[in-house]
Parts: sequence; C-alpha cells; structure tokens
Amino acid sequence: ARKFFVGGNWKCNGTVESVSKLVDTLNAGEIVSTDIVEVVVAPTFIHIPLVKDRLRSEIQVSAQNCWVKKGGAYTGEVSAEQLVDLGIPYVILGHSERRHILKESHDFVGQKCAYALSKGLKVIACIGETLDEREAGNTIKVCAEQLIAIKEAIGENWSDVVVAYEPVWAIGTGKVATPEQAEEVHAELRKWLAENVSAEVAEATRILYGGSVTAGNCKELAKKPNVDGFLVGGAALKPEFIDIINSAQ
Ligand code: 13P
Repeated sequence: ARKFFVGGNWKCNGTVESVSKLVDTLNAGEIVSTDIVEVVVAPTFIHIPLVKDRLRSEIQVSAQNCWVKKGGAYTGEVSAEQLVDLGIPYVILGHSERRHILKESHDFVGQKCAYALSKGLKVIACIGETLDEREAGNTIKVCAEQLIAIKEAIGENWSDVVVAYEPVWAIGTGKVATPEQAEEVHAELRKWLAENVSAEVAEATRILYGGSVTAGNCKELAKKPNVDGFLVGGAALKPEFIDIINSAQ
C-alpha cells in the first residue's frame, strides 16, 4: 500500500517571525501517526535551517528547488550536495511556477531529478497542464511529455520519486479539480507508469494532487483510490494544514 503523503509548499512566503509562528502551530497540532501519513514542508532556502531546528521530528523538511549539477560558479543556485549536507531529505522539482515563469524545460527538470536522486535526495516531481492545454484535450499528452523527460533522465528507478499532479489552472486560483477530475488524471498517470516504466513502479509510486487544496475539499479528494496525498500551497501556511494532514486514510 502507498503511504499517504502531504506536502506543504510554502513558496516564496514568510518572514522569520511568520515562519516561526507557523512552526509553533505545526508543533502544537495533533496529527495522525506517521505510520499513516508522511508529512513534508518546503520553506524558502533561507528559512530551512530555522525550520529544521525547531520543527517536530514527524514533519520532514524539503527544498523547493536545486541546481541541476554539482555546485560551483552558478550564482544564486543551491546544489543537491548542499541540501544533503544540511540533512534535507526532499526537494520539489519541476513546479509549474518554475516551468512557466522561469522557463525550465521538460529536459532541464528531468536532468535536475536525475542529479538530485543521484546525490540521495528524494524528489517531489511536479507535472500538470495549463487551462488552454486542458481545453484542447491535451491534459494527458502534456503530463506524459513531462513524465517522458523525467523517465529519460532517471530510467527505471522511481523508488525515491513522488509525483505531484498540479493542474496549473487550479494553482492559487481557488478552482480545485473535482475529485473525479483528479482521479481521472491520476489513474491515467498510473497507467502511463505501468506501460512506460513498470507495473511495480506504477503500483508503488505516490501520485499527489495539488491546486487549491483546503481543509474543506481534501477529504473528498483523499477518498479517490489513485489520489495518494496532496501538495498544498496557500493552505499550508495556515493552521488548516493540520486538517489536511489528518485527511490521510
Ligand atoms: P495552492 O494550494 O495555493 O493552489 O498551490 C498549490 C501548489 O502549487 C503547491 O505546490
């Protein structure tokens, strides 16, 4: 069985004060056993040490990005080695904000996944279509292209990969995918993994839903058999993140 996974992507938010308060809130909340749910939060790079030092041990810390290869003369980047050195287990790669605003290509994201995995990081690999792509009937095609680039770079070893399906039209818009819409895509993605990687990988890989997840809509989404958890943006900055963690089943 796939262990439920709830990730909080804090994006480019927070001050020392607000992040400290959020950590206090998370530390005080009652959460279901980590036997049932794996929980990860991703602060900005500069807040990672603070969060890592103060956050309860049941919640792991992730980065939101890392460099595509070994560090060196790459101004403004943070390398996978540096994350490993700090004891950070996870990195989010291929988030749509980086694909669309920072123009990260499918291949570049694939290479980042491969390098991060090779250094021992676990990867939350994000994929998803825009509204135009969905309306043109290309949702699965676009997601498959993003997955193909990852597969070409990482091969058959997906044991440290969590896939996050985040339809771009649902991110930060309040327009959550319906449980049926999410389940339909998640089932197709699992089928893609079965046909293009292996039946074992398809069965074992967690596929998260992301895009306007809240305490109010998470329970219905979590009931779907192919929805293995969430990647949460806005609601991960609020006390309701505890309720989303506890939607695990
Ligand atoms: P929202 O939950 O704010 O829509 O963001 C989702 C997301 O992008 C998580 O990575």
